[in-house]
Amino acid sequence: MIYNKFKDLQLSALGFGCMRLPTLDKYENIDIEATKKMVAHAMANGINYYDTAWGYHEGNSELVMGEVLADYPRESFYLADKFPGYDVENLQKKEEIFNRQLQKCRVDYFDFYLLHCINDRNVKGYVDPQYGLVDYLVEQKKVGRIRHLGFSAHASLETIKLVLDTFGEHIEFCQLQINWLDWELQQAKEKVELVTSYGIPIWVMEPVRGGTLATMRSDYKARLDKFRPDATVVEWDFRFLQSLPQVTMILSGMSNMDQLEQNINTFADSKPLTSDEMQTILGIASEMIKKDTLHCTNCRYCTTYCPLELNIPWFIRLFNEHKYGGGGFITNSAFATMPADKLPSACLGCQACEAVCPQEIKISEMMSTFASRMKK
Ligand code: SF4
Ligand code: SF4
Repeated sequence: MIYNKFKDLQLSALGFGCMRLPTLDKYENIDIEATKKMVAHAMANGINYYDTAWGYHEGNSELVMGEVLADYPRESFYLADKFPGYDVENLQKKEEIFNRQLQKCRVDYFDFYLLHCINDRNVKGYVDPQYGLVDYLVEQKKVGRIRHLGFSAHASLETIKLVLDTFGEHIEFCQLQINWLDWELQQAKEKVELVTSYGIPIWVMEPVRGGTLATMRSDYKARLDKFRPDATVVEWDFRFLQSLPQVTMILSGMSNMDQLEQNINTFADSKPLTSDEMQTILGIASEMIKKDTLHCTNCRYCTTYCPLELNIPWFIRLFNEHKYGGGGFITNSAFATMPADKLPSACLGCQACEAVCPQEIKISEMMSTFASRMKK
């Protein structure tokens, strides 16, 4: 395992994201035994950073990680948790939520604590002095219940700058969605430059874009194979990030032992991309962006807000597949088994989902297009 220095700490360059833990059936039903085995393997292979949040697995990620990590000495791992201030109601009960998080995770302190998922819409609440969130968290830091404070953002450059300017010295790290596709698509390059100009290290989330960048069209992959014939697409994803000196932590939400094994192998050493390799992969990204696919990360923020509980990320995957597969059988067979009120055609067009989508996907438009295509 390679390590990066953060202040006086040595953090494993690969962090264990706890947003996509193995499940039994539904997203909220985490397979605790499988998680225990994965964490044991991660610990044995030097991963010392674990990243959970209030909303992951409908609140069960914190509970399960609390149970699993209780088997290890507290000083043997770094635990990150996040405040769900994206919902303004939570800002009014910050003490209750923070205390509950410590309790759920069975710890006395968090090594890292973040303002979670700041975007252009919810930032108002985060910076509003009437809620005093950061003042409260700084107090928690003073009494030793938080060691390091940061924020995660799926936001524009302006919003990220606003947060950095508002909270200044209190912010010690910044977690962003960075990968080779978003380098251009979501201005990740400019975001990295902005945060770096404040002297703040970067934590990376969605390095594989929720699995979207785990595979690649064979003609694109052939271009990469000329440089590194044995490297998988996921390895390229991580090597890209290893090429960015500002990146201190790369979080990966792993759901099974195979993914964990592969990632551990990739992080056994650092093999940054050469300039030719960098140019090639960013060229592929530009070509992909030109194509009309939706880049959902499967974060599932939208599903909580859908009054019909439609399985939005799944529909987006099918929608992309349908587009690439030329209307193949996958979608037809999937839809055939579903009740009419759970299909894209049931969508009310209320856009409640779009208000919380960090990727700013026009979900209602997709639903309507998908429904009419399937009708044809
Ligand atoms: S627009 Fe459709 S998918 Fe989105 S929340 Fe409303 S009903 Fe659900
Ligand atoms: S549509 Fe948006 S909010 Fe919903 S899972 Fe995809 S990226 Fe997340």
